[in-house]
Amino acid sequence: MNTVAKKILIKGLVQGVGFRPFIYRLANEFNLCGTVENNNLGVEIFIEGTNQKIEGLIEALPTRIPEASHITSLKIEISKVHGFNSFSIVKSNSISEEVTEVSPDIAVCKDCLADMKLQPNRIDYAFTNCTNCGPRFTIIKDLPYDRFKTTMSVFEMCNECSTEYKNVLNRRFHAQPVACANCGPHYQLYENGNSLNTFDEIIKAATDLLNNGKILAIKGLGGFHIACSPFNNDVVKELRLRKNREGKPLALMFRNIADIKKYLFVSKEEEIILSSWRRPIVLLKIKKSLSHQISLGLDTVGVMLPYMPFHHLLFEKFELPALVLTSGNLSDEPIIIDNNEALRSLSKITDATIIYNREIHNRTDDSVVFVANKKSRIIRRSRGYAPSPIKLELKTEGIFAAGAELVNCFAIGKGEQVILSQHIGDLKNLETLEFYKESVSRFSKLFRFKPAIAVADMHPEYLSTKFADEMGIELIQVQHHHAHIASCMAENNLDEKVLGISFDGTGYGTDGNIWGGEFLICDLSDFERINQFEYIKQPGGDASNHHPWRMLLSYLIHYFGEKFVEENIDLFEGIDKNEIDLISTMIKKNINCPLSSSAGRLFDAVSALLGACRNATYHAEAPMRLEALIDKSDQTIDIYPFEIKNSISFKSTFKNMISDLRLGISSSVISSKFHNTIVELVVSMATKVKKEKGLNKVVLSGGTFQNRIILEKSENRLKNNGFEVFTQSDIPSNDGGIALGQIAIAAKRRELGVLGLKYGI
Ligand code: ZN
Ligand code: ZN
Ligand code: FE
Repeated sequence: MNTVAKKILIKGLVQGVGFRPFIYRLANEFNLCGTVENNNLGVEIFIEGTNQKIEGLIEALPTRIPEASHITSLKIEISKVHGFNSFSIVKSNSISEEVTEVSPDIAVCKDCLADMKLQPNRIDYAFTNCTNCGPRFTIIKDLPYDRFKTTMSVFEMCNECSTEYKNVLNRRFHAQPVACANCGPHYQLYENGNSLNTFDEIIKAATDLLNNGKILAIKGLGGFHIACSPFNNDVVKELRLRKNREGKPLALMFRNIADIKKYLFVSKEEEIILSSWRRPIVLLKIKKSLSHQISLGLDTVGVMLPYMPFHHLLFEKFELPALVLTSGNLSDEPIIIDNNEALRSLSKITDATIIYNREIHNRTDDSVVFVANKKSRIIRRSRGYAPSPIKLELKTEGIFAAGAELVNCFAIGKGEQVILSQHIGDLKNLETLEFYKESVSRFSKLFRFKPAIAVADMHPEYLSTKFADEMGIELIQVQHHHAHIASCMAENNLDEKVLGISFDGTGYGTDGNIWGGEFLICDLSDFERINQFEYIKQPGGDASNHHPWRMLLSYLIHYFGEKFVEENIDLFEGIDKNEIDLISTMIKKNINCPLSSSAGRLFDAVSALLGACRNATYHAEAPMRLEALIDKSDQTIDIYPFEIKNSISFKSTFKNMISDLRLGISSSVISSKFHNTIVELVVSMATKVKKEKGLNKVVLSGGTFQNRIILEKSENRLKNNGFEVFTQSDIPSNDGGIALGQIAIAAKRRELGVLGLKYGI
């Protein structure tokens, strides 16, 4: 029989996910000799044997890859026969500057959970993992992925672990974080200066504390959590008070899917996402309330399933079906990852702190998704998702994208990929800005990134823009809503002229005004603003974000005058008359009243009008409460009138909403009709643009498209009217997705040789 040889180069998410042992076992199955190794390009396989057997392996390979792995390219070359007489895994070897993927963290697998009941050295051992599961990005310091380059390096494997690690037929073969009770990390519980060190005692104390209405800090995979019982109104209220988190909904972890279904509505798609190895928080509609304090009147709550061995072990002893599990931070600061810092600062707001002695290197928050039109829509992209790259058909090498400011993620370009950072947060917070800077430098090191071009938002005051400017390399600034649309285009691999509809809270316009209700004809390099929501004064600028009633006042004065406001002052129930007069004066005299075409601010005004939210305690509360007003049994298809002129006027919209309100029509119906109105506007504008310019592709992006009703109805109505519609799914449509759009714009302009292009408007 003729022996032939082939070299296979696989790129993608192939390191740290059990890929080499998988290849080893496959090669043995097909009786092939050769080698497999990790290098900075990916995984390289060299195989020798009969042609038929090699073909067999090549055919089987893609269909049987480990669950968390993902192949982006597979190249096969004919090679020279070396005469190997066995198959082996050879040591990692840095040969190139090009880097492959870093795996996100993977929820503990079923086999490991079973081992925790069977293997003597892993009974109830909370750091059990294997090549198919466990920590990855959170512990990686450098590539190639090897134990000594992770925060596991300080733990020396015991004989048993080492035997498993070296045994190619074992599930822990080359599992870098492999550990057992004899050699791996351990938990500790601190309460009032005393510590508990045995696991049984820790779990017992933790469940007792939780049952007795106490608040715990628990070290998670990417940072600390704060936990308490969700069935105890007083403790949840106390947690809100201590954490200075007045109104924001709190996430829950449930024991299992059956218990989730007792309290929340779960669709098939939602169940798949909840149970996936990524284990994000999924926003679900409430069926039966646990405590009013959890979501404070919203109709959804964020829910996740256990993903660390510790969570599973806790729920074995904890009798309640769910726990509040919110990020362990002080108000807007980044989630805490350091033991000492947790003991120092989180102990001020918790009754006990549970830590473990493995370091978290890369901070990640729990990711958040919701399902719209049966597709996953990511809101916060972090644990389980970052730092998986996004593949473009553009050369992105050397481009650094600084991102936006409020829910910042930055991005780096490698080859034709974009690596989007984990969720960073609001850069106006000093600690978050530090986290941003640290992460930029860590990404640069980890991915061997050498920035050549920086791309940032046009907003001169964004701290991300200032950071990019200070890098001392060529800087280009792109318009916020152009970046939103480009982000959605990049995610959907579009590179042509489209109608981009971008609705969000705020973004700096090319005219210096606040934009956010924008209709753009654009491609990846440039855009033309063809229409917009009518400019309205935004009293106090950003300050009005916290006071939706100010926007209502501004809209009413703009459309109907001050006298109308006086006659309808009951619309401002609960707002101090002096404050109303003060803001009216600001509007009249044009003091600190930037012009705004923001969709977010329009939703704020309507939310205030319906009394859903007159003052907001957190970002986007007013639009969320406006959406939550809608009783899903209301199937009205009615709309309010609006006018498309040089800009879009909502004068008749407000006039009719107020008369509905006066007629005693329910706020559910009014909110529903308002949402329908925005959808109708989207369809009308798309129809108009199609007629005038022949464009049939419509791209929707911006934070307002996190409103499930707006997103689902816009997408469906446009599709039913023959449009090709593109929306975001794996990349946030909020400002967390801006960096992807920024890189796409810079890459396209570089390809066209118009990097410094000034917007033609
Ligand atoms: Zn496992
Ligand atoms: Zn061990
Ligand atoms: Fe935005």
